[in-house]
Parts: sequence; C-alpha cells; structure tokens
Amino acid sequence: MTRIAVLGSTNMDLVAYVSKAPGRGETVTGHEFRTIPGGKGANQAVAAARAGGTVSMIGAVGVDAFGSRLRAALEQSGVDTGALRTIEGPSGTAHIVVDDEGGNAIVVIPGANGTVTTLTDDDEAVIARADLLLLQLESPLEGVVSAADVARRHGVRVVLTPSPAQALPAGLLAATDLLVPNEHEAAALTGITEPYEAAEALLEQVPEVVITLGSAGSLYASRDAGKIMVPAQRVTAVDSTGAGDTFVGALSVALGEGRPMPEALAWASSAAALSVQRSGASTAMPYRIEIDELAE
Ligand code: ADP
Repeated sequence: MTRIAVLGSTNMDLVAYVSKAPGRGETVTGHEFRTIPGGKGANQAVAAARAGGTVSMIGAVGVDAFGSRLRAALEQSGVDTGALRTIEGPSGTAHIVVDDEGGNAIVVIPGANGTVTTLTDDDEAVIARADLLLLQLESPLEGVVSAADVARRHGVRVVLTPSPAQALPAGLLAATDLLVPNEHEAAALTGITEPYEAAEALLEQVPEVVITLGSAGSLYASRDAGKIMVPAQRVTAVDSTGAGDTFVGALSVALGEGRPMPEALAWASSAAALSVQRSGASTAMPYRIEIDELAE
C-alpha cells in the first residue's frame, strides 16, 4: 500500500448552487446550500485514501462545530487524523458558488489552517515514514517549506499542487519532485499560457510536471521522458470543484504502487472524471473499485 502524508488545509466548504454566479453588486437567488467538508489538503487526503492509499493528514482545525465534523469526515474516508491539531478559534472555511454549467468561484478564509507554520516531531515522523508527501498552498508557506525539507531529507517524493496560485520561494520548487498545476496556475507561475511552453519553462525548476487542462485532459512533461498528452474521459460535468485534488490523490497512490507514469495518469483521469459527475468536492471523490471499473 502506498503511504501518503498530506500537509495542508482543512476547510468547511459553504456551497451555494446558482444558475449563474452574481457579478459585482448583484444579488441572485440560488437553488440550494450545502456544507461539505473540504480544503485542498483534506481533499487530496480523502482522494488518496479512497483511491487505496494509507493516508495521514497534517494540519489544524478549530474548536468550533465545523472542526469536529471535518475530523470525522476525514476519518470516515479512512484518513489518519493523529497529526491533525485542534486549536482555539474558527476552522477554515471556503465560500463557494457553483453555477449550472459546473463552473465555480471560491473565497477561502484560513482560520485554524493559518497556524500551521511549524512542524512538530510527530509531524516529521509522519512525513519520514511516507512514500509521498502531498503539498498545496492553502496553508502557510513556512509550514509547506518545512514539510518539503523534511521529505527531502528522508527521500520522500514531494508532489506540489501550486494552488491557490502565488509567488513561490525558490527553495520550495527545488524540493519538489512532481509539480501539478492546472492551466491557470501554470500560466501564473511562468507568464506563459500555452501549456507545452509553460511545461517546458517549469522543467527548468522541477524534474516532472503535470499541467491539468480540465475537460481537455492533462499534459505530463519530464526532463528524462519527454511529454505525454493524456485525454480526459468524455463525461457530463455537473461540478468541477475538487477535480484537480482527486486527480493528484489518485495519481500519487498509483505512483507509490510503482505503476508507470502513463498508466498512473490514465487512472488519475478516470478518478477525476468520476468526481466531476457528482456535486461537491470530497463527497464526489471515487473509491478505488469505481476507478478500476472506469479505467479498464
Ligand atoms: P482543477 O480542479 O485543479 O482546476 P482541472 O479542472 O484541470 O483541475 O481538472 C483536473 C483533471 O480532472 C483534468 O486533468 C481531467 O483529467 C479531469 N477533468 C476536469 N474536468 C473534466 C471534465 N469536464 N470531464 C472529464 N474530466 C475532467
């Protein structure tokens, strides 16, 4: 089994479903409201656990009611929460608007996630034991950089999702083995919108890149093995929230099992295609048996 450590955010997603998202100064009436456990870190942890990994989550929730629900939701998907702290103050929240075409707009308030600036000895032990460490940028960069350094020291493969897009300390990319931006994040990091060219530019900083391209699939590029364009499954998307996190979680499990990159990418695409056909992020993530069925 692939052992995966995830350091990152745990948020309660407060999701409003609307026909068309409001513009500035506009008020619209939506059809539905849901509270769904989320956060990019927790979503990647759930995706990896459901895909069959042995997963530990490092991060923090608040003492509020959201905090206990977030912890329980992770445990329900089989994620070990021994390294998830509970701290004074509110849990992280994400305020999400999903429109009828499955598009979304998101505001994140970090709350407890903002306290994860240093690692405890236990956190370090969790990372040292893992095959892969999954990182994103929804928790403080100091903590993310420390975790990447610990992984480096212990020979643990670092998979970084550079989301939300922001300027990165050079040391973080230097400690990254596999970078998985979506097309917008790749453009933000490089200033280049054409994916092949953006991938080429990113390879100057990391050995392997996957740029995810929504319904157009994904582009893998490596210094050693060239480029592979991976098509997405043709499905009817109802909610694309969390597609990228599903993709990264499943990809990491497959890579940890020693599966070749093309096969791992195809399997991750199947996982992501299943997730976009259901509403919500973590709640929409598929289990291994479903991914295997679609990937056959
Ligand atoms: P993010 O959620 O980070 O913005 P993307 O939207 O690029 O990431 O989606 C990640 C992956 O999910 C894609 O590479 C693709 O494999 C899959 N995917 C996303 N949208 C669709 C879709 N409409 N149909 C099928 N697969 C999709």
